[in-house]
Amino acid sequence: MTKFVFDFAEGNRDMKDLLGGKGANLAEMTNLGLPVPPGFTITTEACHAFLKSGREPEGLSEEVSTHLEALEARMGKKLGQSDNPLLVSVRSGAKFSMPGMMETVLNIGLNDQSVRGLAAQAGNERFAFDSYRRLIQMFGKTVLGIHGEYFEEAIDAAKHAKGTTNDLDLDAEDLRSLVETYKDVVIKHAGREFPQEPREQMDLAVKAVFESWNTDRAVIYRRQERIPGDLGTAVNICSMVFGNLDMTSGTGVAFTRDPASGAKGVYGDYLQNAQGEDVVAGIRNTIPLADLEEIDKTSYDELMNIMSTLEGHYKDLCDIEFTVERGKLWMLQTRVGKRTAAAAFRIATQLVDQGLIDMDEAIQRVTGAQLAQLMFPRFDESSGMKQIAKGMNASPGAAVGRVVFDSYTAVKWSRSGEKVILVRRETNPDDLNGMIAAEGILTSRGGKTSHAAVVARGMGKTCVCGVDSIDVDTKSRVMRAPGGVVVQEGDVISIDGTSGKVYLGEVPVVASPVVRFFEGDETAVGDELVAAVARIMEHADSKRRMAVRTNADNAEDSERARRFGAQGIGLCRTEHMFLGERRQLVEDLILADTDEERDSRLAELLPLQRADFVAILEAMDGLPVTIRLLDPPLHEFLPDITELSVRVAVAEARGEEREGDLRMLQAVSRLHEQNPMLGLRGVRLGVVIPGLFAMQSRAILEAAAERAKAGGDPQVEIMVPLVGAVQEFETVKQDIIQVARDVRAETGVFLDFLVGTMIELPRAALTADQIAEAAEFFSFGTNDLTQTTWGFSRDDVEAAFFSAYLEKGIFGVSPFESIDREGVGELVRIGVEKGRLMRPGLKLGVCGEHGGDPDSVHFFDMVGLDYVSCSPFRVPVARLEAGRASG
Ligand code: PEP
Ligand code: MG
Repeated sequence: MTKFVFDFAEGNRDMKDLLGGKGANLAEMTNLGLPVPPGFTITTEACHAFLKSGREPEGLSEEVSTHLEALEARMGKKLGQSDNPLLVSVRSGAKFSMPGMMETVLNIGLNDQSVRGLAAQAGNERFAFDSYRRLIQMFGKTVLGIHGEYFEEAIDAAKHAKGTTNDLDLDAEDLRSLVETYKDVVIKHAGREFPQEPREQMDLAVKAVFESWNTDRAVIYRRQERIPGDLGTAVNICSMVFGNLDMTSGTGVAFTRDPASGAKGVYGDYLQNAQGEDVVAGIRNTIPLADLEEIDKTSYDELMNIMSTLEGHYKDLCDIEFTVERGKLWMLQTRVGKRTAAAAFRIATQLVDQGLIDMDEAIQRVTGAQLAQLMFPRFDESSGMKQIAKGMNASPGAAVGRVVFDSYTAVKWSRSGEKVILVRRETNPDDLNGMIAAEGILTSRGGKTSHAAVVARGMGKTCVCGVDSIDVDTKSRVMRAPGGVVVQEGDVISIDGTSGKVYLGEVPVVASPVVRFFEGDETAVGDELVAAVARIMEHADSKRRMAVRTNADNAEDSERARRFGAQGIGLCRTEHMFLGERRQLVEDLILADTDEERDSRLAELLPLQRADFVAILEAMDGLPVTIRLLDPPLHEFLPDITELSVRVAVAEARGEEREGDLRMLQAVSRLHEQNPMLGLRGVRLGVVIPGLFAMQSRAILEAAAERAKAGGDPQVEIMVPLVGAVQEFETVKQDIIQVARDVRAETGVFLDFLVGTMIELPRAALTADQIAEAAEFFSFGTNDLTQTTWGFSRDDVEAAFFSAYLEKGIFGVSPFESIDREGVGELVRIGVEKGRLMRPGLKLGVCGEHGGDPDSVHFFDMVGLDYVSCSPFRVPVARLEAGRASG
């Protein structure tokens, strides 16, 4: 039979799947001989079984009884026994920590009798009734689903009657009567009495913890943190120790080092005569942990010893919860602590220097997402700008713009070139277009899992949320900040999504020192954080199997990406080279009626294209450069059909002759497509528009010949987009080969170059073996592959319904942001397998946005790609993640 219950002494820290993080670490501490109050853990499997069937799995109750009896025997008291009660806590604990998301009930076992036993035992009546009222309060909220404010109101009323705001001023008598009030609250709002039977209390609490796995906030948090929804939580049943006995007792939290900087020292808070959440709930002012030394040196010294034991044992920053009961220290929890991005890099290298971990382990202690955070520009703190408020740092970045109060204005102003900050009380799906248009989002309500925060993070947009000191008056179009500050619509503010600070006016932005370092700024290396980043990056580079290239279509981006460590270009999109002043030529080309006219426009475009390529090949000299032939539908280069129709209609009404406009309108109408993304684009252009791809190939190869003659080392890879069938590819490839022969004859330069294709249609992935017969390399275009696999129009779906999909958990993250492993990823895997089967050693890369997404990089490493390609700023992130993936 499945074992559902483990004594603390039976587990260890590697059993997080089964015992949850808290249970596994309590077991680990128990086995290290640290003072952990005895107890046992009910497994996540039991939770699973419960959530599936709605009932306790068979055998669980008996197993719990056996462990409870053993605990009772060990403690020499029985659960809720009237004269000498054993009390327990029931606490949730999933595999991954979900702070504040799930439930805890303390002091289980107290009832109208045992509260007196506890009073006598402790010689402290006040303490006993305080513990009892806490039980009813927590049990009422967690197990019986009563709104917490009914209890809050009752305790506030008791304090008010006493003329105090401090809960310590309530005496035994006050608390005894509060217990009665609380019991009435339970009857009134739960329609039942507070259960007096100790075992019933415990069983109901266990059930409530199981159920808390599926509360809305837990579901949203998991989605946010990408924690799988089917893990379930374990339940820890632990004998109570009391920090609320008297002033020689207390409870605290501590970190083994500073989670903000990584510096060693004594970090934490302590609160005398307190229990449970009191420390973090802010009911009274806590004291710095260092002051415990004066209050209780024995406990303090023991705690310092334990912290150093834990750090040595876990080889990482640990955070700790502890309680002191009448001068005796107890450990209630430890786990590897959360930290800021900067601290993660510092701590990883500090631990290497202390000899606790090696560099292989150090690169696993940081993430690409953390590195990306360190690369955001920041506000210049020395600028002396006026901070007007502070909220939650929901999504990092530094954004400056004019305040707007609704989505419509955000879109309107941003269309006319204004940078705007969308300010709302809270956002909802209707605000999505405004959020997309804005530089940043500011809300006065809602926390880190509010709509604004979740969606902004999803979009990589700066967001500060829950700035409750600000009053947002959408009707009058003003926001009021403390100190009489009034901000009107149109006023400029600056918001810092990394610190949560809000400033009036435009705060100057400076590049982060980490970016300055990547840019090659020598002075940045003095910074401790930069030095840590440099060491980690060097090691990640030495470990990684995959190369990292960049997506760049001009020399400037190519140079920057190269400084950032790019090993070539994975995607040079040529369509951007057809805009600006060249647009007229392209228009003429598209509208050409005769072959001569078309050839002459192509001939004019040729030297311009060649010059682009010369510059790019020079910037990437010696490294591979993948240049993609024209991809977008041609009407993208022509005027908008509606505007044009209006112009022609107005001219006609006025009886004017506008021959040019009319001709253009006919052409635009001819080229108009209902679904341009599925229309005449990519390789299809090459097949039907004579000379276009040949001109581009000629420009590329002539540029390469020119570079070679100048002593350079051009490494050209010509790439054909949107191929679905090998026949399409072959048609275009033949033209390219012919051009290459011509260019060789004309220039006398023999060039080594590759012709390959993008794999961005499901059919291409499925017939990759055939395509690989002709193509010398593949680059997976996961943007289009996602679009065509899901049938999602890239440009439409995000605004139309992605927020609903994210909210409903249909996917945890947009498939355009992180690769959908099961669907799109499977096509990539098939493409790799079939391609290599036909052509062993086929060069494989990816150039969709996913190439710079940490999670996707690991996937691409796993399926065996040779390189990922991403935007210049993502190159360091991809380097780090590729290194971590190889580790
Ligand atoms: C892709 O489809 O993944 C790709 C890189 O091409 P584009 O985004 O230019 O369509
Ligand atoms: Mg594409």
